[in-house]
Amino acid sequence: MKFLCVDCDQQMAFGERELPGDGTLAATFKCPTCGRVVALLTNPMETQLVSSLGVVIGGKTVPAQPLETVRTMVATGRDDAFDEGSEPRGHAAGHNGSPTWSVDAQERLARVPNFVRGMVKKIYADYAKERGIVEITPAIMDTARAELGLEGM
Ligand SMILES: [Zn+2]
Repeated sequence: MKFLCVDCDQQMAFGERELPGDGTLAATFKCPTCGRVVALLTNPMETQLVSSLGVVIGGKTVPAQPLETVRTMVATGRDDAFDEGSEPRGHAAGHNGSPTWSVDAQERLARVPNFVRGMVKKIYADYAKERGIVEITPAIMDTARAELGLEGM
């Protein structure tokens, strides 16, 4: 990111940068020829965006900010956004398609972070369906995780 002084056709020099702690970013740029100063202000969301993209401002990278806003948006998404309910049924002729979850498996699923639980649940359910497994247990979850390379889920 660079600023040009239009009058002097001169690239402005990075002056100072502040991260006051409320998420606001302020940076100033000064024209070395005429002394004009411009300031760049961003709101917390823009600061996060700039930080997360690793954009270099004035030759230094802004320290990484927690992506709190994005996390919040993800976390408030529907828990069952990836759940079975909205999926059209029919291809699983023979049985009703949805494997059941053992109590142990349900407890384990409950420990998965809220914002990925629906997706994780679907991954295991699809795994079980493909193999004709009618009940998902922690052992099935272990096997699926190892086979699918889903460490940590
Ligand atoms: Zn100038």
